[in-house]
Amino acid sequence: MNKALRIAHILRNASAFQGKDVVVQGWVRTRRDSKAGISFLEVNDGSCLTNLQVILERDRPNLAAVVERLTTGSSVEVHGTLTPSPGKGQSVELLAGNIFVYGWADPARYPLQKKRHSFEFLRTIAHLRPRTNTLGAVARLRNRLSYALHTFFQEEGFFYIHTPIITTSDCEGAGDIFRVTTLHPAQPPTSNPEALYAQDFFQKPTFLTVSGQLQAEIYALALGKVYTFGPTFRAENSNTSRHLAEFWMVEPEMAFADLQDDLALAQRCLQYVVSDLLENSWEDLQFFERFVEPGLNESLKAFKEQPFEVISYTEAVNILKKCKEPFAFPVAWGADLQSEHERYLTEKAFQRPVAVIDFPRDLKPFYMRVNDDGKTVAAMDVLVPRVGEIIGGSQREDRRDMLLEQMHRKGISPEAYAWYLELREYGSAPHSGFGLGLERLVQFVTGLGNIREVIPFPRTPGHADF
Ligand code: ATP
Ligand code: MN
Repeated sequence: MNKALRIAHILRNASAFQGKDVVVQGWVRTRRDSKAGISFLEVNDGSCLTNLQVILERDRPNLAAVVERLTTGSSVEVHGTLTPSPGKGQSVELLAGNIFVYGWADPARYPLQKKRHSFEFLRTIAHLRPRTNTLGAVARLRNRLSYALHTFFQEEGFFYIHTPIITTSDCEGAGDIFRVTTLHPAQPPTSNPEALYAQDFFQKPTFLTVSGQLQAEIYALALGKVYTFGPTFRAENSNTSRHLAEFWMVEPEMAFADLQDDLALAQRCLQYVVSDLLENSWEDLQFFERFVEPGLNESLKAFKEQPFEVISYTEAVNILKKCKEPFAFPVAWGADLQSEHERYLTEKAFQRPVAVIDFPRDLKPFYMRVNDDGKTVAAMDVLVPRVGEIIGGSQREDRRDMLLEQMHRKGISPEAYAWYLELREYGSAPHSGFGLGLERLVQFVTGLGNIREVIPFPRTPGHADF
C-alpha cells in the first residue's frame, strides 16, 4: 500500500519520472469517456491542487470491468506508466496498467458533484468539504502558515511554550468566556450556589482560555522570548464574518522590549510568513487569485515590502471624522474602532498595513502599560486590507503600583492575580507581546470573506457539529 507516490512529488519532478512506473492513491474528481475507447480520470490525492490525469484504455479487460462504476468520490490506487501528455493543461499523465478501487461513491448520493457548491452548503458537509479545491487549498495554506510561524519564531530565538487551555483567569476581564465544569446542569449536587464549586472538579470556577498571554508573560520573564500557539475560546455571541468561538492564536511575548520592538516584531513576522507563502504555496495562492480575489498576488507581493503606517488612535479618529465615508457606527474619541473604520484606514486612507497605537486607557484591558499622558495605553492594533484587525498587542504594565491602580479601576481582584503582581515585585522588566489570529491571517492571504471557510470545523453560536 505504501509504495504510492504523492502527486505533488510526481508533478514537481515530472521530467525525472517520465517513462517510469508509478503508483498513486487518491480520489476520483471526474471521469470523461471518449468515443475512441479511452476514459480520462482526474485523480486528486490532496497533496496539491492539481489533479493527475489517468488514462484508462477500456479494451483492457481488467479496466473495462471497473470503468463504468468509477465516479466522482471513489478512492483508487492506480498502477501505471508516467508519459508526456499531448493534452492541454498538464505536462504528464498516467497510463493505467491496473486500478484498484478501495471505496465506491454512489453518484446518486455523493453530495460533491462536479459543479460549484455554495460555501454555506459545504459547511453542512464538513466531513467531505476538504475534498473540494477551495477547502483543500485552505488546509494546505493553514499548514504552511503554521509551519512558517513556528520557523519565524524559532529563528528569532523564541521558545515555544504550552500555556494551559483550562484557566481560572479571564484575561480580558470581559464576560465572553466558556465555563469548564463536570457538574451536570440538570443534576446540581446542591442548590446552594456557594457550596456548588466545592463539588466541582477544580473546586473553583474554571474557564477555557481566551488568551495564553498572562502565562506567556511568566515565561518571558524567565526565558526572555517565548510564544504560544494554540486554540483560544471566546463566547462572543455575535455572528460576524471574522469571529469564531474557537480559533487559533500565536502569542509572542518578549522581555526587555517596548511597544516599538513589538511593532517591529509584528511587521517582521507578517512579512516573513507572506514571503514564505509566495515562495512555497504559489499554486494554492493562484487558485484564490483566480476564483476568489483578483489582485491578491499583487497585494501580497506589495505587502511583504511595505512598512506599516504607524498612527496614534487619536490621529485615526481625526482621519475617520474628517473623511466623507458613510459609516454605520459613529466615530468618537473613546469609542472602539469598528471593522468598517479599520478597513477604511488600511484600504482607503493609507492603502497599506496600518498599526494604530496608544488607545484610550478605558478601551483596553488592565495589563496594558499606561502612557505618560495618563489617558492612553501602549497598545497596538495591526490592520490589514480585507480583514481589518489581524493583530492586537501591547507593552505590558511592568510597574506594580500602576498595575494595582489599573486593577482597581477595572474592578479586577488583586488577590486573584497575586502571582501576576508578584512578577512586578521580583525582577520586573519592560515586556511586550501580541496576539495574531491564525484564521484572520488565512482570510488575509486567501481573500475568503467568511472566517467559517478558513478553519476545518468552525464553532459559532449554535454550531458545534463534526
Ligand atoms: P476584535 O476587535 O476583532 O473582536 P479583539 O480585539 O477582541 O478582536 P484580541 O483580544 O486583540 O482581539 O485578540 C488578538 C487577535 O486574535 C485579534 O487581532 C484577531 O486576529 C484574533 N481574534 C480575536 N478574537 C477572535 C475571534 N473571535 N475569532 C477569530 N479571531 C479572533
Ligand atoms: Mn484587539
